[in-house]
Amino acid sequence: MAMHSWQRLGAKWLAGLIPLAEAGVHPDDCKVTASLAITDAPLPPLLVLPIRQHIGQACAPIVDAGDTVLRGQKIAKSQGYVSTSIHAPTSGRVVKIEEHAIVHPSGIGMLSIFIEPDGEDRWLEKLPAMADYAQRDPAEIREQIRSCGIAGLGGALFPTFIKLVRDPNHRIETLILNGIECEPWLTCDHRLMVEDAPRIVAGLKILRYLVQAERCVVAIEDNKPDAAAAMREALKQAGCADVEVRLLPTIYPQGSEKQLIETITGRQVPAGKLPLHIGALCENVATTAAIADAVLEGKPLIERVVTLSGDAMPKPANLRVRIGTPVDYLLRQQGLEDLHGVEVMQGGPMMGERLRHLDAPITKGSNGILAMRQQAREPESPCIRCGHCVQVCPVGLMPNELASHCRNDRFEESEAFNLFDCIECGACSYVCPAHIPLVHYFRYGKGQVAAIRRANAFAELSRQRSEAREQRIQREREEKAARRRARSAAKPAPSPVPPKAEQP
Ligand code: SF4
Ligand code: SF4
Repeated sequence: MAMHSWQRLGAKWLAGLIPLAEAGVHPDDCKVTASLAITDAPLPPLLVLPIRQHIGQACAPIVDAGDTVLRGQKIAKSQGYVSTSIHAPTSGRVVKIEEHAIVHPSGIGMLSIFIEPDGEDRWLEKLPAMADYAQRDPAEIREQIRSCGIAGLGGALFPTFIKLVRDPNHRIETLILNGIECEPWLTCDHRLMVEDAPRIVAGLKILRYLVQAERCVVAIEDNKPDAAAAMREALKQAGCADVEVRLLPTIYPQGSEKQLIETITGRQVPAGKLPLHIGALCENVATTAAIADAVLEGKPLIERVVTLSGDAMPKPANLRVRIGTPVDYLLRQQGLEDLHGVEVMQGGPMMGERLRHLDAPITKGSNGILAMRQQAREPESPCIRCGHCVQVCPVGLMPNELASHCRNDRFEESEAFNLFDCIECGACSYVCPAHIPLVHYFRYGKGQVAAIRRANAFAELSRQRSEAREQRIQREREEKAARRRARSAAKPAPSPVPPKAEQP
């Protein structure tokens, strides 16, 4: 049977003949804020802090309505291992704790802590600084990073301390700082490297101490030569001459973790495995700067740099924003009042989420807010089997096949085609001439598979409980019967009745 072009490509990928590092697309980069220095956003009249801003278990609030809080004070503590705390971005009063809109395609809400700033911005006493971290136990430093609420600011939002635990079976050989920022429009990491390179390098040294990596690479796309120059100079000043700054070709999604690791190390992270399993660790540059703040100053994560841009944004900017600032407040600050015909999204246009509620707050993962003029969407037509989607996929998937399985609810097949390896980068949808919203189908498929897994787990739990109950009832019956038998055995034998005397 003749093979389609996409099948040939997929087969070559599976055989490892095509490096994934060469996949990707070239959207217009639209980096209109690249030369705009970071400035401070004003404090809003109300801050909204959702209790989960990371991958993992939600935090538990440890303040009540009416409490006063100080800047940097812990207001929600982590629960479970995969979790990290949340802190007050300024001083003020907790006015309420209730559900509020967050950035999510479904428009769902989340329990959130509302703080009314008092305008004084008074700090709580920070955690002790660890300028002497190189003399400390790594576990102590990781705990400080955890206490300060650091999670991956590149968008992954995985609690950072977990990635820094040393695994005796997997040594980290290569530490990669990810300064790629390949999403169009976004420039927050770019500006951070230009303006705050020494802080990033300080974080890099801490990371290196923690994981003892032999090789360190700062990866930057070649459309940011000023960032590369700033990082080189900061590394020189810090005596880190052995850290390499690699300029990589500008291609989307060059910054996706697996693709970047392959580009730098020449090794692929196998499906279902972590970078750790091939001796690599990848950290975003903004996360690395936050690690320096946590360890060297005891400063929790309460603010981040956000790019405000898009073709409908009157005053594009890179702003240092307190976590919890409502998006509509920022839009007004940038002169955007009339939202007719404008779509607002968080993140870049390739992987970002459309905002359904503009009063949703900036959280730890908010790298950009884009205001884009609404455009008519091209209607979807049938797949023409051109194979373009297969060619650009940075993970080596077959998006056309996957979408077909997801659309037709063939979830076992979609899992067999590694649905959960899809990073939802959108490169396949971007090139599809049939305008098939492929990522939409992948999200649907993942949601359905997760629901099926939950239902199966629940059914299994119910089955186990029912079996345990049956066994308990049976055991109790047997024990009761045994007790009855024991009682009967212990009863004295009835004394023989004396024969009646015969009447004469
Ligand atoms: S969205 Fe998923 S399937 Fe499509 S190119 Fe990206 S990783 Fe591949
Ligand atoms: S899904 Fe789109 S890009 Fe992929 S093979 Fe079909 S028409 Fe081509």
